[in-house]
Formats: sequence, C-alpha cells, structure tokens
Amino acid sequence: LSIQDEARSIEKDIISWRRAIHANPELGLETPETEKFIADTLAEIGVEDIKTGVGGHGVVAYIEGKTVGKTLALRADCDALPVKEETGLSFAATNGNMHACGHDAHTAMLLGAAKLLWKHRDELKGKVQLIFQPAEEQVTGAKAMLDDGLFDRVKPDVILGMHTGLIFGGPDYGQIGYRNGAMMASVDRFVVTLKGKGSHGAYPHSGVDPVSMVGQVLVKLQTILSREKDPLDPAVITVGKIQGGTAFNIIPGECTLEGTVRTLNPEVRAFIEKRIREIVSSVSESMRGTAEVKYFPGPPSLINDSTVNEKAVEIAKNLFGEDGVAEVKSPVLGGEDFAYYLEHVPGAFLYHAGSNPEKGQTYPHHNSRFDIDEDSLWKGTALFTAFALQWQD
Ligand SMILES: [Zn+2]
Ligand SMILES: [Zn+2]
Repeated sequence: LSIQDEARSIEKDIISWRRAIHANPELGLETPETEKFIADTLAEIGVEDIKTGVGGHGVVAYIEGKTVGKTLALRADCDALPVKEETGLSFAATNGNMHACGHDAHTAMLLGAAKLLWKHRDELKGKVQLIFQPAEEQVTGAKAMLDDGLFDRVKPDVILGMHTGLIFGGPDYGQIGYRNGAMMASVDRFVVTLKGKGSHGAYPHSGVDPVSMVGQVLVKLQTILSREKDPLDPAVITVGKIQGGTAFNIIPGECTLEGTVRTLNPEVRAFIEKRIREIVSSVSESMRGTAEVKYFPGPPSLINDSTVNEKAVEIAKNLFGEDGVAEVKSPVLGGEDFAYYLEHVPGAFLYHAGSNPEKGQTYPHHNSRFDIDEDSLWKGTALFTAFALQWQD
C-alpha cells in the first residue's frame, strides 16, 4: 500500500479521534482530559515511550527506528477557544468552549501519523518526537514545554508543523500550502499607563489630563507605521483597549492603553518597541504628565527554513501531485507559537487547506461556526508520515 492508501485506510480512526477531541474542548494550559485522551490513544496504538505532563499537560512521545539517523519533531497543538459552538454538528461541544481553530484536527492527524509510523518503525531512520502542545491560542504552550526541558532531553534536528482551515490565501481546499521565509507574525503585547493629575472637568488647568495624552499617543503610534519604517516591511500596531475615567465632568488621574504589535522582520519589531517607549515618554512629558510602558514579547515571527520547506514540498508533491500543493501568496500577521521551536531548530510550518467551501465551511477561524472537512484529514496524516520516513533521503 502507498502511504496515501494507508492514511485513507485509517481515516475512520482519525475522524473518530477528531470528534472525541472536538466534543470535549479544553482551554489554554488546562488540558488534562485532552492530555489523557492523547496518551491513551498513543498507548492503544502501541507506542511505548510516552511522556505526559510536559510543561503542564503537554504530551511527548517517541518512535524509534531500527537504523541510526537524525531526530524529527512533529508538532500538533490541542487547545480550544472560549467560544460557544454553533455549528450544529452531532458531536458539537456543549461545555461553552469550542475547537474553533482546528486544533482538534491537528491532533487527530498527528495521532494518525503515530499509528502509521509505529507500524513502519522498522523503516524509520533515527527517531520521531511527537509533540502534542496545549495553549497555542495564548501563545504560551510551546514556551511552557520548552521551559520544561523538551529540547534539553531530546533536541530534534528538524521540526514540522501544520495548520488547517482557511488562514492563508493561495491554496484551495484540499491543497497543502507552503511558503519560504516569513509566514506569520511576531505577537507582542503592550500596556501603556499615562499618568496626570485628577481634577474637576471645568477646571482643567488645575489638573493634568491623561485623556488628552491618550489622543496624542494614539495618533503618533500609527505614524511609526506610516512615516518611520519601510512601507514594504509589513507591521501592525493595534490599540484594542482603552481604560480611564469615571464620569463626564472629572479629569481622571490616569488612563491605560493596551495593544498588540505584529511584525515579520525582527529589526522592525525591535524598532517599534523602542519607538513606542520614546513616543509615550515624550508625549506624557510634554503634557506635564508621566508614563509607564510594559512590553510583553510573545512569539517571534514564524520563518520557515527553505531547505526543510523544499523537502516538505517535494514530498507533498509526490503524495498529492503538482496540483495538490500551492504556494501561500503572502504572509499573514496572525501569530503562531510554533515560531518558538524554530528559534532552536530549523523547520517548516505548512498549511493544510481543510475547510471546504462547497460544504459551507466558509466561517473564519475563531468563529462559532468554523468547521473543517473530515475528508481532508488523511492528507495531514499522510504528509506527516511520509515526511518522517523520507526527509533524510
Ligand atoms: Zn486560533
Ligand atoms: Zn490555530
């Protein structure tokens, strides 16, 4: 049997795993039941080396080949979102959370690969490290597993990950998308506190007004993007939350702004952080106030290694034909904490275009009606499996 046929032959398993995970979504780092489901399923498959509790509730399993070789890590995320499901699926979640990003599919596809790789372990060179990671949505899960020594125990030589759904333009339903270089953005968060002096709204001269400072800061932050960096280097600064004040006739003592910075280029990322600090400090000072900036760096931008990427594309073309693969037209400024692994190990993140518009699957990620086509799951399993067996050839 070809790898494609083998993956198709276990389609029922992959779908049933996906449904079981879908029906019981867990959030963030708190994924104990998902952890148990993954570990139990791996044990049922026959996998012997299974570690649970990595970075909280992460699961890592190893399948070792007969011949000496390098180590490949395959990663799936497994957390859900605080979204009330409205898909109407027979296995829809009822606990108020939802797998609205397809991580249920990622986990099921990787379990499928575990099943095939276990069967073919004699043909494997080196070993495969299977990573089942919680808390991708909060972009803390990869870091938690790495901080818990994931790569200190076994450092892979290469890593491969995948995201299903509708995220990237270019590939159509059923295709595998790839992109050399930067594919997703760095995800930073900042909190700015502008401090003035509270007073009566009719006597502004007796106070120092932080609301006016907010106005200036908001405008100036956007000029970093429009006037200070190369327009061909994409970046976003979004202030999504402003808080301050208690009544229409009171000048508050302070206001806070909270926002996110997305970039593809590490130099632009560092520049924007520096300029946010400088602008906030100079605006507040010029308006007789003070300020504080807290900057929380998240995952860096996701940059694919071109050698690994090209190998993955070659293997995907062998599996699905020339038309089964398509280039992702442009990067997106969404983030993905797979980028943390890529700081340590060269790798590639692929796109599994799993939402099928012909079946009405047109709702975006994180939407209460988001869905993927189960008929496409075998492809993710086939690709993970084929890559593990062939990447060193
Ligand atoms: Zn998501
Ligand atoms: Zn996701």
